[in-house]
Amino acid sequence: MSNYTPMIKQYINIKNENQDAFLFFRLGDFYELFFDDALKAAKELEITLTQRDAGKEKIPMCGVPHHSAEVYIRNLITKGYKVAICEQVEDPKDAKGVVKREVVQVISPGTVMEGNMLEEKENNYLASIYSKNDIHIVSYTDLSTGESSVSRIIGDFKQVLSEIVNRPVKEIVVTSDFPESNRELLELHMRVTVSYCEETEIPDEVAYLVASLDEEDLIKGFGLLFQYISQTQKRYIAHLQPVQYVEIENYMKLDFYSKRNLEIMESIRDQSKQGTLLHVLDQTVTAMGGRKLKKWLDRPLLNKKHIEVRHQQVSTFISSFMERESLRTSLQNVYDLERLAGRISYGNVNARDLLQLKRSLGALPEIQSLLKQINTEEVSKLIEEVNDYKPIFTLLEKSIHEDAAVSITEGDIIKDGYNEQLDAYREASRNGKAWIANLEREEREHTGIRSLKVGFNKVFGYYIEITKANIPHVDQERYERKQTLSNAERYITPELKEKESLILEAKEKSVALEYDLFVEIRSQLKEAIPKLQRLASQVSELDVLLGFAQVSEQNNYIHPTYTKDHVLNLEQARHPVVEQVMQEEFVPNTIKMDEGTQIQLITGPNMAGKSTYMRQLGLIAVMAQVGCFIPADVATLPIFDQIFTRIGAADDLVSGQSTFMVEMLEAENAVTHATENSLVLFDEIGRGTSTYDGMALAQSIVEYLHDEVKAKTLFATHYHELTSLEDTLETLQNVHVEVDEKDGEVVFLHHIKPGKANKSYGIHVAKLANLPDEIIHRANYLLETFESSTEYKDELAKEQQLTLFEESESLPSNREQELINYVKDLNIMNMTPMDAMNALFELQKKVEK
Ligand code: ATP
Repeated sequence: MSNYTPMIKQYINIKNENQDAFLFFRLGDFYELFFDDALKAAKELEITLTQRDAGKEKIPMCGVPHHSAEVYIRNLITKGYKVAICEQVEDPKDAKGVVKREVVQVISPGTVMEGNMLEEKENNYLASIYSKNDIHIVSYTDLSTGESSVSRIIGDFKQVLSEIVNRPVKEIVVTSDFPESNRELLELHMRVTVSYCEETEIPDEVAYLVASLDEEDLIKGFGLLFQYISQTQKRYIAHLQPVQYVEIENYMKLDFYSKRNLEIMESIRDQSKQGTLLHVLDQTVTAMGGRKLKKWLDRPLLNKKHIEVRHQQVSTFISSFMERESLRTSLQNVYDLERLAGRISYGNVNARDLLQLKRSLGALPEIQSLLKQINTEEVSKLIEEVNDYKPIFTLLEKSIHEDAAVSITEGDIIKDGYNEQLDAYREASRNGKAWIANLEREEREHTGIRSLKVGFNKVFGYYIEITKANIPHVDQERYERKQTLSNAERYITPELKEKESLILEAKEKSVALEYDLFVEIRSQLKEAIPKLQRLASQVSELDVLLGFAQVSEQNNYIHPTYTKDHVLNLEQARHPVVEQVMQEEFVPNTIKMDEGTQIQLITGPNMAGKSTYMRQLGLIAVMAQVGCFIPADVATLPIFDQIFTRIGAADDLVSGQSTFMVEMLEAENAVTHATENSLVLFDEIGRGTSTYDGMALAQSIVEYLHDEVKAKTLFATHYHELTSLEDTLETLQNVHVEVDEKDGEVVFLHHIKPGKANKSYGIHVAKLANLPDEIIHRANYLLETFESSTEYKDELAKEQQLTLFEESESLPSNREQELINYVKDLNIMNMTPMDAMNALFELQKKVEK
């Protein structure tokens, strides 16, 4: 270290404090990166790697221009990295020795504020996990909107994962004792950046943030997040809203697997929005509404009254078609108020943002009068008194120019008439310009030179230009030569210079004053931030409800009703997502489970629609509990406290377990946590192991659900033997998916009917998939053998744990079968002794083959 230049020493010291970030080290007009940072950044950003003499050696270096740094920073952040911005904090002219430099901000995936680094309809959460034994305090903040929340989760780490899995969390702050294995899980499988912080204190001056929290662990949990924010952002963040405590018991719980399996917000196949419930329901007009919808989908309600209020609002909007249309049109003028408020607080708002704010506020009176026009209690209060926002609107209306420039330091942002001094400067400048325009005319007349021109350039200021041919006509006394061009001379006069300095001075002063005025307006707006945030929340709620009404009307959804007595009656229900993407008609199905029916055991061929039927119920429950109408003709539902699923083969994200192990983990999670108010959707439990193991497990799980858990359960299975449980389990009902068989071909009708299926049709599906005929014939033969084998039936009765492999060893092979068939087909009664000899000879040949 001692042989490095002082600047590199300074670099090394700062880098040591920011080990986990790329250090963007300001050097003149560039941010430079050195050592390993340079090697890595050159690769990631595809920029040229060079070297710099650092004293004792040459070191790797690369750099990006200061003015275009944002693009590079964005690139690194999207890849999950962090960037520490290190600026020169004193004027190089004043510096004794190396210019002082400091990290002024650390930008990370969870702390980005820049508009173009953020997804419009998605929150950008920074979260923290603060754990003591099996109590985990999970806090969230979205720095771009300022909202924060905290929840307490009791249980193992999987419960924490279930809580965060669907949320747009980009970065998670933990303490140094956070288990390494959990860190890996978060980084590798949830694709988040993990950051460390040790402090948990909430400074007195921001105690208001945690005023609503009355327990120490919650305050410390949020403190961890707060400390990380202040250590990285190094500024006071005025738009942070007081933390909301979210009691997770007040919302429907969907575990990690169910959120994935039901494809509520992300498809399993490619993690996209396509093919999800969110995609069908998202008819929001504003970015804030889009984010609110995701929040609602992530936390369906449990409180019947609250759910019913939302349904009532949706119902009102459905019946007010004209007003709904107008409201949605008006909402198009409402910009992202939450993020605008964030930028106001951060100090990176520009005049165009303020125009957006003005337009948004300008749309409010219309919105409110439309709501009043609808004139029902539920909706008229959605947007509070809009007069509250009038002063802000008026301020912006008076101050910000309609065609304001993007830059806030170059003038042209403040309207005439807003500030007297500014008007005076502008007047001076305008007069001066008019004087100059007049000068051209006067000088032409005076000199008689028609081609005389008055011009301006940055180096010489205003000048009078005379072509070479006309120079003799110039009054050399009055004109002072300033610049010679190839075919002209440029002159100045004392009056021209005098006016010029007046104009330039006025311009300079007005630009400076405009900036000051802008800053003043911005700080006035800072005080209105909580108000704007409240408005944003109301507008986004209105937007989601209007969207629900819109989609409900478009897709013929109906108003569900709730019962307390465990009755489920969904007549002619449809799968909200599948019905949208199907080419053919979707076949509606009725799901009826009264108090005496807890479990539907579903049998039926592959591809018949068992999974669709089950997911349909799960999604409908979620839709209804977030407040939307649902795809059915008649609907009475219980309120489900939790949904558990085991559908489809999931690769295991959580612990690197085998598919069967995941299946068992999902089952364990359901049977231990489900209550009689839960919904359990099990598709083909036990399929991933040997037949008898699987069947035995499936049966005992059904029995346990029946006797102990008592949750409403849909249980699809290929084990037909389980259908006999209907005789012994009182609240279990067999249903099956209907198929038609015509000329040996199977036609799937997708209808769910009472009773059990009589066949499985798996081999038919294999045939549909064009497996070679040889395999299909052989499989048909084996099936017959299995079904007639008494051994098989006995084994089943005894529930012996035989593997399919062992079982198949006792069956004849293809060749053996050929021999058996040959012997069986011999018509001995019609054979001569010679024929018999020949047959024996043939047989011997076949055996020797
Ligand atoms: P497997 O046992 O092989 O998992 P499954 O019985 O669970 O099959 P699904 O995956 O639910 O079958 O459905 C298979 C296909 O049938 C779906 O992709 C869908 O295209 C169609 N389908 C399912 N239900 C319906 C329905 N009610 N109306 C129309 N088409 C349907």
